[in-house]
Amino acid sequence: MTAKARELKELGKSVIALSAGEPDFDTPENVKNAGIDAIRSGKTKYTPVPGIAPLLKVIQEKFECENNLHYEINQITTACGAKQILFNALFATLDPGDEVIIPAPCWVSYPDMVRLAGGSPVIISCSEADGFKLTPEAFEKHITPRTRWLMLNSPSNPTGAVYSAEELRALAEVLRNHSHVMVLADDIYEKLVYDEAKFATIAAVAPWVYDRTLTVNGVSKANAMTGWRLGYGAGPADLIKAMNTIQGQTASHTSSISQYAAVEAIGGDQSYLPGFIKQYEARRDLVVRKLNEAYGLRCTAPDGAFYVFASCEGLIGRRTPAGQIIRTDEDVAMFLLEDAGVAVVPGSGFLMSPYFRISYASSEAELTEGCDRIIAACQALVQEDAA
Ligand code: PMP
Repeated sequence: MTAKARELKELGKSVIALSAGEPDFDTPENVKNAGIDAIRSGKTKYTPVPGIAPLLKVIQEKFECENNLHYEINQITTACGAKQILFNALFATLDPGDEVIIPAPCWVSYPDMVRLAGGSPVIISCSEADGFKLTPEAFEKHITPRTRWLMLNSPSNPTGAVYSAEELRALAEVLRNHSHVMVLADDIYEKLVYDEAKFATIAAVAPWVYDRTLTVNGVSKANAMTGWRLGYGAGPADLIKAMNTIQGQTASHTSSISQYAAVEAIGGDQSYLPGFIKQYEARRDLVVRKLNEAYGLRCTAPDGAFYVFASCEGLIGRRTPAGQIIRTDEDVAMFLLEDAGVAVVPGSGFLMSPYFRISYASSEAELTEGCDRIIAACQALVQEDAA
């Protein structure tokens, strides 16, 4: 979809890309300055594999103060994004035939990462009626002697669903009877929660799974630092050690400059955050309101992240002005791109159809224009049917 959007842009067509998974905000000034200072003061050499000591220290303090989780320094590591933390963990632990339970809709990278590491993804479809969240019953049904991990992502990409502390505890209850199953808690959207929703993380609310949980986080989303490539994870010391061994023979560590910037991002002034959150919330409300005005589309307001996962079931079977029948959410995304000049990501990419994901990490002006174009394109489908 991104390649097609680029192609259309090159042909001079106006394309509004609401497909990206990254904040449109600039990296905060204090963080940029910390990076610049690191360059100027020569902090540009190799660092220890898990990361520089001041970074591990602020991460330790972050977990303690914000999540009520205590980790020793040797239980913490950093990498080139949360993505590499996840990959290192899977690569360190999976043998061929090992299974990883992934509730869907899920972030596109999870199943492929599991396969790359030699394991088998076990996808559990979580219905919209359940808020796109895994239920303890469905979870228990899919556990086998080969299950190695449960991958949990809250707030979720692509749905924005947020698991409450009670829901996490209920999932952890299932794990009491299955001591061989570990939990990967991908908390990368932790800071982006709205309204009454409260972020919770499983190792903190269900202490009996603390010593088999890898808690993953990073600066990409909350601190608008996607390109700096810095993520971190904390968990059992032996797992962290194995992850460091792998990283020691691959990337070694993430950029020293990014590490110094992250010390500021995690431990320094974050007074910009409430402003980011307020803007995301207003944009979310705008997108949800507008999409629900569009013929054939339906969505609810998600509690977190910066995505709306809209149902496009009402468009399936419709005929486009060009005479094509829309059969899948991929057809919907292609139609919106070609006829409306708006790029979204089809639900099939997240293993749940017929939906599409629209990202609201864009300016209000772009979102308004993008949604108005979507409304007009969907309206043309009604007219086409009537014709
Ligand atoms: N997990 C999820 C659910 C994500 O959406 C993303 C980014 N798209 C990541 C992890 C990776 O983030 P990072 O930039 O820290 O690698």
